[in-house]
Amino acid sequence: MATIRCDQHGVSHEAFVCKHLVYGKYLGFFCDLDDRQNPYPDAWCNGCELIRIEHNGWNDVTEELIEIALVCGGCYEEIKQKNLLGSESSTAVQ
Ligand SMILES: [Zn+2]
Ligand SMILES: [Zn+2]
Repeated sequence: MATIRCDQHGVSHEAFVCKHLVYGKYLGFFCDLDDRQNPYPDAWCNGCELIRIEHNGWNDVTEELIEIALVCGGCYEEIKQKNLLGSESSTAVQ
C-alpha cells in the first residue's frame, strides 16, 4: 500500500475521502467495506452517498460530481471520528 508523509502524523498509509469530510463535522461516514484488505477504505459523506445511490454506485459521472482528497491514515481516523453519526444506513457500513 502506498504511503504519504503528513505534517501531523509523519509517514502513514494513503487514504482517500471526499473533500466534504476533510473540513466537515457530523456529515456521516460511508465507506467501501468490500475492500477488506484496506484498513482505510475510500470514504464519503452523506451528501455523496445520495449521489452514489442516485447513480447506482460510483462511475465516471459521479467521479465528476464529487471531489476526493488524499489524506494520511491518521487523518482518516480523525475524520472518521468527527463525521461518524452512528446512523448510517448504507449497506457499506455496519
Ligand atoms: Zn462528500
Ligand atoms: Zn495525518
